[in-house]
Amino acid sequence: MRRCIATVSLSGMLREKLQAAAAARFDGVEIFENDLLQVPGTPREVRRIAEDLGLTIDLFQPFRDFDGVSPTQLLRNLERAERKFDVMQELGAPLILVCTNAQPSASGDIDLLAEQMHQLAERAALRGLRVGYEALAWAPKISRFGQAWQVVQKANHPHLGLVLDSFHTLALRDDPLPIADLPGEKIFFLQLADAPWIDTDVLSHSRHYRCFPGQGEFEMARFTAAVLDAGYTGPLSLEIFNDEFRAAPARPTAADAMRSLLWLEEQMRSVPSLKTGVPHGESRRVQLFDPPSPPQLQGWSFIEFAVDASHAERLSAFLRTIGFKHIGRHRSKAVDLYGQGEVRVVLNLEEDSFARAYFEAHGVSACATALATTDALAALGRAEALGCTRMAGRVGQNELNIPAVRAPDGSLLYFFDVHSGGEHGFEADFVLDEQPAADTAFGGQARIDHVVQVLPAGQVEPWTLFYRAVLGLQPTSSMVMNDPYGIIKSRVMESRDRAVRYALNVSERASTSTARTVSQFGGAGVQQIAVAVPDLVATARRLKALGASLLPVPGNYYDDLEAKYDIAPALLATLREFGIFYDRTADGELLQLYTTPFEDRFFFGLIERRGNYQDYGVANAPFHLAALAQFREHAQ
Ligand code: MG
Repeated sequence: MRRCIATVSLSGMLREKLQAAAAARFDGVEIFENDLLQVPGTPREVRRIAEDLGLTIDLFQPFRDFDGVSPTQLLRNLERAERKFDVMQELGAPLILVCTNAQPSASGDIDLLAEQMHQLAERAALRGLRVGYEALAWAPKISRFGQAWQVVQKANHPHLGLVLDSFHTLALRDDPLPIADLPGEKIFFLQLADAPWIDTDVLSHSRHYRCFPGQGEFEMARFTAAVLDAGYTGPLSLEIFNDEFRAAPARPTAADAMRSLLWLEEQMRSVPSLKTGVPHGESRRVQLFDPPSPPQLQGWSFIEFAVDASHAERLSAFLRTIGFKHIGRHRSKAVDLYGQGEVRVVLNLEEDSFARAYFEAHGVSACATALATTDALAALGRAEALGCTRMAGRVGQNELNIPAVRAPDGSLLYFFDVHSGGEHGFEADFVLDEQPAADTAFGGQARIDHVVQVLPAGQVEPWTLFYRAVLGLQPTSSMVMNDPYGIIKSRVMESRDRAVRYALNVSERASTSTARTVSQFGGAGVQQIAVAVPDLVATARRLKALGASLLPVPGNYYDDLEAKYDIAPALLATLREFGIFYDRTADGELLQLYTTPFEDRFFFGLIERRGNYQDYGVANAPFHLAALAQFREHAQ
């Protein structure tokens, strides 16, 4: 399909926006009038810039408050339209977007509207231009596509059609299904925007919170399927008003935009026809993007920290106090491997390396994570198809070449192929000195349960899309945690079988634990590695014996716990003794404790899930709430 983006979706001056769109391989753009007004040159020069970049100008917008007016006003509006048509002809834009009148005084009389839109279409036709009519969700009279369609149908002019915009339909919770029954050739243009569900008026929702498909919570696939099932063959175009994107550099935003469309097209392959139920969109008349399937993930092979010599010493001491053993040294690099249970941590001290550059930019932090998967090359292929940059490092003779791509924060994401000796097959590159015993602190079956990342404001959307599109993770829950110094928002993403889970935490308030960690890292970073252990009380005992520094939990917490649950006194005493958090659902129990953070940067969480306690989400919020508050107090 042809892929377009509205210039309003990107930051900067018009030329920068066009360059960013071209760099992300868009086919065309919608030119926003405001973007044109700031250009020193003529529309003809803008057309030439776009042509030189290989971009078409598919649409010019917006043309407001044209319809449902008095006869005298109509004459003035038609004159105004002629001036816009002049601009469009210079731009080479074939289609103008006319949004429904947002003035309270506008008429909602379908006959009148149809007659006035017909006159406009007549004028456009004389110039070989077309008019697309878009129902604005907040217009007082014509706010739904069904109403706009009545007008277009009644006007019955070949140069007049509909512009559909997912936001306007989905934000009003209007059913997109009837779109599938519209004649596809009368849908002149399709605009796509996702958004989170938030409690605000629809105009503010639209102007500030739109995001790219896959980044929000709207049912984008169903909406898009309805439009394609109508027989629409025009471009997919992104029209995003978002405060963060307006402030972010245009090129990464444009790259994300393209990824969102590719992801959405792929979704269209699996959504059955809404009209016939035919699986796969065979009835759809368009070619859809077809990348390799999402990888089957089996957990984490290792997490790699970038360190210099002095930090390596301190971090290794920290790891030892919580039961990690040094289990090997890389054959050709200054890289050490630590482990216990199934958890592997790599300390990379290599100078003149990616890790060193990362260390210099971010300090001691996780510079890479390796996911275990059944087909690493397919995972890499998918990531590249979805616009990720492949990263290649120095590989010694007879060493494994582990494919990697760059994650949104510049860290590396490795794909380790489990057919190369299981999830720890990468150990072949190490000279091993000691395999971790089963009785280390975490226990023999300990494995990473989830990873918590802290993100700067505006980075949740790119990460959500990255995990969703590249890894096939699903967003499962969002929660708000009350840090003593402000709100932390957390979004959980997980693979279908929960082998891999991430929590993405963001806070717009500078003093919360999340925001402080973000500023310490100079960007995003791994704040918590949560490890599932078979017996948390035994682990706590062993950690205590090792002299591990565990997060203290106030006695008040346990008094409350006692009041809340009918909890056995012996268990309560144990929880209290070791600072273990506790939660219970109908299906099971969760026990969780935290180490104190390493240099106020990251820490380990230890989890025991009893019964079928699978919830990461809401029930777990008090744990994080208490722990993160403690984290900050400890750090002070
Ligand atoms: Mg729109």
